[in-house]
Amino acid sequence: MKLGAIEAGGTKFICAVGNDQGEILEKVVIPTEAPSITMPKVYQFFKDKGIERMGIGSFGPIDLNKEGGSYGTIQKTPKIDWIDFPLAGEITKQLEIPVVVDTDVNVAALSESRWGNATDVNTCLYITVGTGIGAGAVVNGATVKGLSHPEMGHIGVRRHQADSYEGKCPYHKDCLEGMAAGPAIEARWGKKGIELADDPKVWDLEAYYLAQGLVNFIYILSPERIIMGGGVMQQEQLFGKVRKYVIEMLNGYVSSPRLNANNIDEYIVPPGLTTEAGIKGALGLVMN
Ligand code: ADP
Ligand code: ZN
Repeated sequence: MKLGAIEAGGTKFICAVGNDQGEILEKVVIPTEAPSITMPKVYQFFKDKGIERMGIGSFGPIDLNKEGGSYGTIQKTPKIDWIDFPLAGEITKQLEIPVVVDTDVNVAALSESRWGNATDVNTCLYITVGTGIGAGAVVNGATVKGLSHPEMGHIGVRRHQADSYEGKCPYHKDCLEGMAAGPAIEARWGKKGIELADDPKVWDLEAYYLAQGLVNFIYILSPERIIMGGGVMQQEQLFGKVRKYVIEMLNGYVSSPRLNANNIDEYIVPPGLTTEAGIKGALGLVMN
């Protein structure tokens, strides 16, 4: 059986034909422009490929409520051409197949749980720290959704006493994303993250905020593993600092051997999949 998959990102749409063993058979990359330019190329690629269903991991926010009549419609994104675009609805109409949509981070979590660094556990959380902060979770093989999808990047954090940066989130200013995503680092310190690699106080403060996020996610979701990806996590020094703060902030309250100082290196980890995580996860949405 042939299946379709799309990793719909802010800069590119990766489109693939795969099978229900999770193999990618054919793939194409289409730049993300306005829907009127990008989407006809997407339909053209999939037309006549004989695919039976389509899985999409999409940038968001995107409506995941199956009952409201706007399932798979993009919501208020900074990419204004895409606001209110019915991504799933249009694909169903054009290709006459059922479509399953989820967020890019949920799909990354799914990919890690099937093929990456969380294959040995039933619950995992994937967090990306890049232009924004987003997280997705998998519980027993399914991604966590509800009203729509979680927005874990926008939780409140306790400000560090030595930090006077106001925060960059257009909605909340000093939420986790507003304090710790790549653009916040750049705005606070006046240089891009990559140029600050040798300044330990930058990464110490960064880890302080990220760890607060993780501690909250641990309290709420109790994941058996946390995978941290995204451009900012290319600073490998962050892993050690985040692990240390998480243990300190939990202060022994959650009892699990996974959270011991000896095991924390296997609890908070980088992704196991790199290039194909998004597209394989999208395929995973429509595999049996
Ligand atoms: P996106 O979130 O847009 O998909 P990325 O995950 O690559 O893209 O995140 C981009 C952000 O990550 C930018 O703010 C950039 O400055 C930051 N970034 C990328 N590489 C590094 C690095 N090696 N060290 C620190 N920050 C980085
Ligand atoms: Zn916010």
